[in-house]
Parts: sequence; structure tokens; C-alpha cells
Amino acid sequence: MEKQKNIAILGSTGSIGTQTLDVISEYSDKLRPYLLTANRSVDLLIEQAVKFRPHKVVIASEEFYGKLKAALEGLDIIVECGSKAIADAVTDPEIDVVVTAMVGYSGLEPTIAAIKSDKVIALANKETLVVAGQLITELLKTSKSSLVPVDSEHSAIFQCLVGEEHKSVNKIILTASGGPFRTKSIEELEFVTKADALKHPNWSMGAKVTIDSASMMNKGFEMIEARWLFDVQPENIQIVVHPQSIIHSMVEYGDGSIKAQLGLPDMRLPIRYALNYPNRFTSCCKKLTVADYANLTFELPDMKKFPLLGMAFDAIAKGGNMPCALNAANEIVVDAFLHDKIKFTKMADVVARAISDIHFVEVPAYMDLVDTNSVIRKKTLELIK
Ligand code: MG
Repeated sequence: MEKQKNIAILGSTGSIGTQTLDVISEYSDKLRPYLLTANRSVDLLIEQAVKFRPHKVVIASEEFYGKLKAALEGLDIIVECGSKAIADAVTDPEIDVVVTAMVGYSGLEPTIAAIKSDKVIALANKETLVVAGQLITELLKTSKSSLVPVDSEHSAIFQCLVGEEHKSVNKIILTASGGPFRTKSIEELEFVTKADALKHPNWSMGAKVTIDSASMMNKGFEMIEARWLFDVQPENIQIVVHPQSIIHSMVEYGDGSIKAQLGLPDMRLPIRYALNYPNRFTSCCKKLTVADYANLTFELPDMKKFPLLGMAFDAIAKGGNMPCALNAANEIVVDAFLHDKIKFTKMADVVARAISDIHFVEVPAYMDLVDTNSVIRKKTLELIK
């Protein structure tokens, strides 16, 4: 019998984390949850630990350590806390695949640790490549680590690229659902609420990425993610709105051929692929019936209505620590919007001001990114006050 793969899930209580555990349950003879980590959701982490019996659990917020430790007493599970403990835990030689499913900038440090210890990384935390694409790409050159995308669009592109040569790629066609506000006018966007923004038409996701989808910042970040993952220049990445979310992205080749990957909008699909790459699992999941979709439609995004998308193109064109600054400002405005402290349309204005005069670093080292992140966060908070 094949050895079970030991899976580390960073952010096991979030949307991707829980769906990763669903997939692990589906293939429990082949996959074993070895390490589970969470930021603050201690109750769900306890529930998961009791059910899945991982080797170790880590909670980032130290205030919950006592509760976690007490609840898992006598279960033969190692219990730790703090973000440093998460970065250390991923280096365990027993771990085969690290699923990076935490939200935002917090994914950076443990992903770097996983790369340095030659892990296969199932990358669900796109912010890591937005913040530090250049640095991560350099680190990967001297490591045996590899990145397998979990983001549905990038998984699609990755699957379209299997068996192809890099030089024959003409462009990447990154599809976007357009989010809940695709058909709203700029004037109507003035009045949208948090509840409106959280109603994504096709995908069930965490709050942060759902708001980013509503503003299309998510697609901007995915463009940056694709730029680094597939070594393609931003001008060769085209964003196309495809409201049905059935084609998850496409690759155009020099001979004029386009390959697409299709499937139902269900994150467990790319998760399954990432956890067993280069092989495919057999699944009894619900399959796409193409005849159910009489119309698959495509349109260009409205860059005026979604200014954050344009800012992502500007940030990657500028390069250096600019995408890191963009991400930091965006994390703060999204959090403010989720706490009713800022209007939807205000988010882009605040981000633009927050990153207008950054201390630019052309080739940022890790500490430059740490600095940029903290300076821009503070500045954005000031601007919201
Ligand atoms: Mg995506």
C-alpha cells in the first residue's frame, strides 16, 4: 500500500481549510491531516482536532491557547500557539503537502518556511504572491519546493499547461465571475451594503475574498498571482468576465489554439487536484453537465466601475514593494468595510491615497516587505479615521 500523504492545513477553519478537510475525508486512506492551524476560531479548531486527530494543532492568537490545550487534554495531540509556532511547524519532515489557506499577509512567513524546507505547497493564499512574488520566485530557484495552485483560475491554467512548453504560450485568459455588482451602475455602487457585497452569485468563499470579488480586487490579485506562478508578463494576461463561472480560465497558444478547463464552481475540485498532483483522484462528486448551460458568455471588465482592478495592473507595472503596499491598504479597507466603517466606493479612494507616496524599494528583501506592510497599514488606518 502507498504511504498516506501527511497534509498540513494552515487556516483549517476557513472556507478552503474546511473544504480541504472534506477532501481528506473523501480519501482518508491516502491523505492524513497532520497539522491544523487557525487564527482565532478556537471552537472549530477543537472540533476538527477531536474529529481528525492530527499530530499537532497551532492557534495563532495566544489568548486561546489555554482553552485549546484544555479541550484536547489526553488526546495525544501536540498543542502550540503563536505565528512563529506555525512557521516552525510546517518545517516538520513528516509533512508532505502544505495547504496555505490562511487569509492575507499572514500567509507569507509560513509559506517562506515551507519553501525553505522543500515542501509541496498547495497555494490557496494568493496574497503571498501578491506581496512577495519576486522574493518567492527567487527562493523557489534554490529549493526543491513546488507550488501547486488551489485558486480555481490558477488550477485551471496549471491544468491547461500540462504537457506544453512555456515558449508556446501566447497569453493567459483569466476568467472572472464579475461578482455581485457586475450589472450595477457606478451610481448604484454608492449605496451597496456589506450584505450585498457578501452575496456572491456563484462561489461560496470567506468574507475577505468575497469582498475582494465584489470590488474585483480579487481578479487584480489573481493577475499578479498568475504573473509569478506562470512567468507571464501582465500585458499577456487578459481578464474576461464570464458570469457563469464554468470555464475557470484559459491559455492561448502561439498556433491560435485555446485550451480551457471547465467544471462546476466548487473549490473541492482544485483542492483534489492539488492534493494528488500529478495524478487525479476519482470522485463521486456532482459533475458538470454541459447541456445544462445553453449560454456561456464573455465580456470585458468595466475598469471605471472597478478602479482597484486597474490599481493592481499599475502596481505590478511599478513592481518592487508596490504590490505589497496595495495588498496592505486593501486588507485594511476591506476590514473597515466589513465593520461598517467605510463605504464600498470609498475603498478604492483610500487605497489610492495610502499607496500614493510609498518608500519605493525596487528589489525588496523580506524585511522591506514587513516594513512596507506595517507602514501602509498604519497609514490606511489613519486615512479611514
Ligand atoms: Mg479565484
